[in-house]
Order: sequence, then C-alpha cells, then structure tokens
Amino acid sequence: MEAKPARPDRASGVATTDRANDAAVAEQAAALQATYGGLSPQRVIEAAIHHFGSAEIAAVSSFGADSAVLLHMIAEIDRSVPVIFLDTGQHFGETLQYRDQLIGDFALSNLRIITPLEDALAAGDPDGTLHKRDTEACCAIRKVEPMARSVEPYAAWFTGRKRFQAETRKAMDVFEAVGPRVRINPLASWGTSDLAGYMRDNALRENPLVAYGYLSIGCFPCTQPVQPGEDARSGRWAGQAKTECGIHLPGLENAVQAVR
Ligand code: SF4
Repeated sequence: MEAKPARPDRASGVATTDRANDAAVAEQAAALQATYGGLSPQRVIEAAIHHFGSAEIAAVSSFGADSAVLLHMIAEIDRSVPVIFLDTGQHFGETLQYRDQLIGDFALSNLRIITPLEDALAAGDPDGTLHKRDTEACCAIRKVEPMARSVEPYAAWFTGRKRFQAETRKAMDVFEAVGPRVRINPLASWGTSDLAGYMRDNALRENPLVAYGYLSIGCFPCTQPVQPGEDARSGRWAGQAKTECGIHLPGLENAVQAVR
C-alpha cells in the first residue's frame, strides 16, 4: 500500500519550507498521475479517497450543466466527502435550487457553501455591479479568494474539469499540484457523449438551464445560452477574451499561497 502523503507544514510560515512542501506535493502529484492517471473516473476517485483519507479531500462543484456526473460518482463511493459550492451571490436561482436537489438525490452529507468576504465586497463591489466594469476583479473577489479559502483545510480536491472544454485544459493531467495541494480531475478524458451516456444510464437530474441552451453555467450576469453547434463555453463572458474565472488558473496558486 502506498504511503499516505505528508501534510504540508503550514505552521512554520517559512518561505523555503513552503517551497520544499510545494516541491514534495508536485512529486506526489506526478507519482499519483503515473499510478492512477489512466484509470476510469470511478477508480481515480476511489484511489484518491483511499490515498488521502476522506477527511483530507473535498470536491468543488459549480452545480452546472454536467456536475451531476462527478457528484454521483463520489456519492457512490463516499457520501461524506465535503462538497464545496462557491456562492458568488450572482448565481441563477435555478442553480441554487438544482444544488439542493442534487445533494438530496445523492444523499451527500457534507455540503459546504463558501461566500465572498464581506469586507472585500464592501470595498470592491458594494452594489454588485463590478462585473459590468471589471470581470477579473469581480471574479477575484467572488470566486478566486473564496476558492483558495475553501480548499485550505484539505490536502486535495476533486474538480469536474474535462480536457475538451478549453484550449487551456487540453494537456491537463488527472492529478495536478497547485501549490501545497493536489487537484484531481477524474473526468479529464471524458467527452460529451461519455457524460450524456452516464447521465442517461443513471437517470441523473439535469440543471434546468440546459434546456434553455445554457451548456456551461456560471454566474447569471456572465453566462449566455449557446446556439446549436457552438462551443459549450462560448456563452461564458461572451464578447470578452476571458475564458476562465481564475479558480483553475495559476492565479489560484498565488491565492492558495496567500491563505497558508
Ligand atoms: Fe463576477 Fe461574472 Fe466572475 Fe461571477 S463570473 S464572479 S459575476 S465576473
């Protein structure tokens, strides 16, 4: 049996120790990738929970278009895995309702709702309109900082990201190091037909917004429906160069370092 990963030494606050920890986590992620990266999503989830221990691993979900797949797989293995939802304060009402329905459907017992910091909102977005002027700043307050804070208690977290979704994800490994933690993408190699087949075979509830053409679902002000044949993520920040909110980009690594 492989050794349980060492917990990063967050108590020291010594930069060189942090760098050494990050290097050790990078080695750990590479070793996990080599051992488990080619397994099915369900076996990846099983192996990761066994490896890290259920108290040291969480799942981050947007409760978007195909979030049911990862959450159903996790629930089949361990319903007590914490499920983190970043409540930006700008979500569709349908997404919030869907979140609660899926949690109930799968009997997931540890939903954690993380909200932006009150002080940051008061200083940077007091009237909730920052997204109209500066989406990067808005995402930093409402998504990136809360995301870094939400994963701080854990050694690793699951995401539902897939390689087909974006250029920035094409070369994505299943196991990735993000500063002192490991990010796990069990569905990395899955395509739209795999996801649709799994949803169908397991009779999973769909986010109601999908029926209206929302194939990638984020905050209400920054999400539009897409036309048939268009890229699913083209409805996110439509008309802007922005394609990611930042919670999956290197910026998160800096934010994760900041909450050490
Ligand atoms: Fe703000 Fe839009 Fe980012 Fe949501 S997706 S945090 S509303 S900029």
